Amino acid sequence: MFDSDLDHKKKHGGAGALARPAEQSSAVSPNLQRRAFLVTSMATIAGLALWQWRKPAILEAAPAQAAEPKEVTVVLFSDSGERLKKVRVARIVKNAAEWRKQLPAGVFDITRNADTEIAFSGKYWKVHDKGLFRCICCDNALFDYATKFDSGTGWPSFWAPIAAENVTELRDSSLGMVRTAVSCTQCDAHLGHVFDDGPEPTGLRYCMNSASLRFVPRT
Ligand SMILES: [Zn+2]
Repeated sequence: MFDSDLDHKKKHGGAGALARPAEQSSAVSPNLQRRAFLVTSMATIAGLALWQWRKPAILEAAPAQAAEPKEVTVVLFSDSGERLKKVRVARIVKNAAEWRKQLPAGVFDITRNADTEIAFSGKYWKVHDKGLFRCICCDNALFDYATKFDSGTGWPSFWAPIAAENVTELRDSSLGMVRTAVSCTQCDAHLGHVFDDGPEPTGLRYCMNSASLRFVPRT
């Protein structure tokens, strides 16, 4: 009779009750035990939630740091479009506050947070003058007018960068699409995306944000 009563209590006391010695179980009311068990469980859940919340940031930071070289190779160009030489230069790394100080808000959002300007709103989609397009953040030469074409998209479009070394292409699976994002090799500024529906000779369409570029007209 006693044994079966005790068993009954144990079965309904939960893991907390089972873990306690028999004499302690009889001294502490089942309600208090249950409350202690619940508090412990909630603390464990909160701890787990915090751990899981922190975990992705740590995992994301580690490979990103390992993958970022201190030096990069770019090709230098004069303002008149003359190819000068291939050089190793220090990768430009600034924190968000430093970039915000240097760039207008809209340019910051596009170049540092991979935002996209509204089609036909930028200042270069219909510019076809002779000249060079440099990075708005670091002046790295990016595109030449000779490869610019009218894509009808409302964004400045080119069929090739001025030098393959000067831009970096990365798979981008944001917004439910798989695209290839294009950034400045020297400072990681987001420039736009590249698609394979461009004209000859490459068949590529570098669809850029005007806000990421600075046009240097040829004199
Ligand atoms: Zn740059």
